[in-house]
This record gives sequence, structure tokens and C-alpha cells, in this order.
Amino acid sequence: MATVINHAKDIKLAKLAGFCYGVKRAVEESIRIKEENPQTPVYILGQLIHNNQVSKQLESLGIHTVDKIPEKMEGICIIRTHGASPQIMEELGKKGCKVVDLTCPDVKRVQDKAKTLASEGYKVIVIGKADHPEVIAIKAHADCYSESLVISSKEQAEKNIGIFKKYKKIGVVIQTTQLVDNFKRIIPVIAEHANELKVYNTICDATFKRQKAAMELANAADVMIVAGSRESANTTHLAEILKPLKTTIHIENKEELDNYRDLILNTPKIGVTAGASTPDFVINEIIEEIGKIGEKTRE
Ligand code: SF4
Repeated sequence: MATVINHAKDIKLAKLAGFCYGVKRAVEESIRIKEENPQTPVYILGQLIHNNQVSKQLESLGIHTVDKIPEKMEGICIIRTHGASPQIMEELGKKGCKVVDLTCPDVKRVQDKAKTLASEGYKVIVIGKADHPEVIAIKAHADCYSESLVISSKEQAEKNIGIFKKYKKIGVVIQTTQLVDNFKRIIPVIAEHANELKVYNTICDATFKRQKAAMELANAADVMIVAGSRESANTTHLAEILKPLKTTIHIENKEELDNYRDLILNTPKIGVTAGASTPDFVINEIIEEIGKIGEKTRE
């Protein structure tokens, strides 16, 4: 006879999860631009945000994501939330298309700080992931004055002590979505060897608050589920900070829950959080599916 296992699931969503204001603004503005210009080609240079579901949705509305600037570019070109380098902006200006800059204001602030530091003669260090589009653009802003350096870890900082000693003035900014702990680990290494050091903690408020809310929820949950793209820096960092605290699953969509059916079935309290680029519908689908798994009949 079939046994019905219904562990009344206690599913809680973190107080802050999903779209931040920078992402919400970029998605809403892109849609508005297309609606107001139905006959005009609308492009986004690189993914607007790191989420494939959102890119597909935008594509279905006629807003096309392109990896690089095409030979011929007419219409409207949107700059993604992560920003673009001054060189890219200049190149776009020559193409004759209209450029709409939807770089998140928090990212813009870091670009400006990096540029100002470099113009004042500081050797700029960007703490972050070197191949992330936001970091590439921040570095490029500083590089207009003198070449900056990207440091991603304490170990990498230790390998570059020679550089910290060589420059009289060092200025530090940090990728908006970095882990606070990484920042705290790297700064003392630089501080020990720098002559003059100016540090800006440019982790954005949305990232900081989402990390805090996720950790608070982890205290009350048996298992944590992080929803969002594996390419999203802030989403992967959420999973990273939760793993030492609780069993943590990082999934991109509800279908991936299938791989964790038994774990979910046997876990009474499940906490859910999501990166700043994860749309509400994905979070809701995941929560609904967790509830359904709890009600499934087992042979
Ligand atoms: S995570 Fe922060 S920096 Fe990135 S888009 Fe959101 S508010 Fe802006």
C-alpha cells in the first residue's frame, strides 16, 4: 500500500531576496524603452543581468542581447547593470545608435571612485573577480589614468606585496557584490605594506542586506536553498556564506529540485533566499515546488 508522507513543510523566504533596485530599474526601463519604440531595434550589450530566464523574456519582447558591438548598429543600445568601459562607450558613440545607460548607480559610484583615485595618483586595486563584467569596466575606468590591479583573494594579495611596497599611494575599491569577509581578509595584507592607503568599501547595500538576511534565516532553517544563476556573483556568494552554516543547495530553477527530492522530503524547515538578479516568478515556482514535494506520495 502507498504511504503518504506529508511533512508539513515550514518554508520561509529571507526578508530580502530577489531583485534589487538596480536590477528592477534596468529590467523595467528596458521593457519601457521597447514598448515606446516598437519599430526600433533595441539591443543590450552583454546580459542585462546574470539571469537566463530574464534574458529569454527580454528576447521574446524583441530586446536582443549581443555579446559584442556588431559591425552595423542602429537603433537603441542599452548598457547593462554591470556597466561598460569608457572605450566601449566611445565605440558606441561612433556607431550612431542611441545609447541608454542602465549601469546600476551603485556600480557607477565605484567606477567614479576608481577613476578619481587613479587621477589623484593612487595605484588602484579593485577587489573582485577579474573576468566579471563589472570588474572589467571598473578597472577600465581607472586604467584611463594608470594601470590598476585586480585582486580576488588574500592569497593573491600576498603574491603582490612587491607592488604594494612599490607605490607610494594605494587606493582600493571593491566589486559591489563581493563578500564582506573577502574584503576584511585582503585589506590587512595591503595595509601592512602600503605607505598611504585609501580604502572605499563599495559593496552595495543590497548585497550586504541580502547576505545578512540569508544568514539570519539560516539560523532558523534545517536546509537553505539559494535560487539564481550560477553566473551571478551575488547569488554564488550567498551560497558560499551559507554553506558553513547549513546544508545549502544552489539551484537555478524548480526543475533542479528533482535532484534533492529525498533531502527536501525529510527536512521540516526549509529556508529560501535568492540573488539580486533572480526574478520573483522563479522564487515563487521554487517555493511552490518544495511544498508539492512535501505532499508527494511515496510507494
Ligand atoms: S546588486 Fe547592488 S550593484 Fe548590483 S545591481 Fe543590485 S544594487 Fe546595483
